[in-house]
Amino acid sequence: MKTAMMKKVHFRLSLLCSGITSLILLLMSLAALSISEKGLKDNSFISFQNDMNTLISNLEQQTVISHQWLTKLQNNKHYLIRLSDNDIPLLFNEKTTPRQQELLDFAMKTYETEFSTAASDFDHMISTVKFSFRMPKEKPSLYYGCAGLCRRGTGTLKVLVVMPQTQLLQQISRQRLLFFLLNLLAAACLMIFSRRFTGRLLQPVEEAQTQQTQFISAASHELRTPLAVILSCASACQNAEADRQEQFLNSILSEGKRMSKLIDDLLLLTRTDRQNFVLQKKSVEADTLLLETYEAFEPLASKKQIRLSVQLPEELLPPCVCDPERIRQVLAILLHNAISYTPEHGTIHLSLSFEKQRFCFQVSDNGIGIPDGEKSRIFERFYRADQSRSQKDHFGLGLSIAQEIVSAHRGQIMVKDTPGGGSTFLVFLNGQ
Ligand code: ADP
Repeated sequence: MKTAMMKKVHFRLSLLCSGITSLILLLMSLAALSISEKGLKDNSFISFQNDMNTLISNLEQQTVISHQWLTKLQNNKHYLIRLSDNDIPLLFNEKTTPRQQELLDFAMKTYETEFSTAASDFDHMISTVKFSFRMPKEKPSLYYGCAGLCRRGTGTLKVLVVMPQTQLLQQISRQRLLFFLLNLLAAACLMIFSRRFTGRLLQPVEEAQTQQTQFISAASHELRTPLAVILSCASACQNAEADRQEQFLNSILSEGKRMSKLIDDLLLLTRTDRQNFVLQKKSVEADTLLLETYEAFEPLASKKQIRLSVQLPEELLPPCVCDPERIRQVLAILLHNAISYTPEHGTIHLSLSFEKQRFCFQVSDNGIGIPDGEKSRIFERFYRADQSRSQKDHFGLGLSIAQEIVSAHRGQIMVKDTPGGGSTFLVFLNGQ
């Protein structure tokens, strides 16, 4: 279950991711759009220029300029044409509207103000001038204009052509709309993608947070039991008679020791989590480590009438580079578990071997065993395979501590069934 904080972080992260990528995408598509629009405009202006050159040369070559040909040209190509001979307009189309007249006048004015120089003054010009202009108060608007002289025999004809670029503008708007929609779609896709992507990124963080919460609640739960006993014993002790008081004090002491052990375990696990778990490595004899553990637990095993045996290799072993205190702790956890989960008159066998440059410590019992489904879970923190069987000094932390210590040594810990029943734990440590 996601916490409200995680949801907020997830939302903000996906917004940031998609926002930045969408912005980059938008800037890139704006650049692409402006390049493409420039190309469209350039191409259409070049084709207008070519058309105008053809038109002027046609006008120059025709002996008789027919009104019909001019009208057809106007209608088919959407040109507005004005021809004048010695400033006397040649009227060939009576249908020219006042609006079209206004356009032609404006084009003429644009030409005169912007392009008419002494060299290209209409009366002295030697070539045609093609230009583009926009009509004020008309948005969006774009027109191409062409003003020139047409030499016919001995005389000249002034030509002014205006071509509205409605199609070009429509094409540009369609292209802009397409770009906008594509950008919108891309932004939506990016949002979905970044939500999933950041969700996956945050998954380990969420898992770690859940584990931490579970760890804290399990730790608090475990601490609550001895604390409750201590508090009740302390209050009972206040009113108890002298001979009963000692009994209560003993309970307080033993529960206090339990709490202290649990806190030590918790601190060790926290240190391994924060990666500031320092090993005091030195060269030690692996068989001595195992023998010491055997001797320390022998009395506990015989109290439960468990036969404890140890087997060491006969050949001389190379020194084992490890933190002896921590490895002793691992062996103690395994042996303590073996004694706890093996019924009376059972057997526990300890052994050591050295193969392929690796030490292998084995703690094998013929106790209650561990079902296959539980084998991977027993290394989890606070996990107890059978809660009902759990004993007072078993918090479900032993194997997770053992695993952390062995991992810090770059070794391996595993469990398998003992042939005939029970469990066998194996600890592998590298030779050097
Ligand atoms: P605990 O302190 O409860 O023993 P551990 O982490 O050491 O916690 O072990 C986790 C669980 O693994 C135990 O509760 C027990 O169910 C199971 N287990 C560990 N060692 C043995 C064993 N030798 N035989 C059977 N079950 C075991």
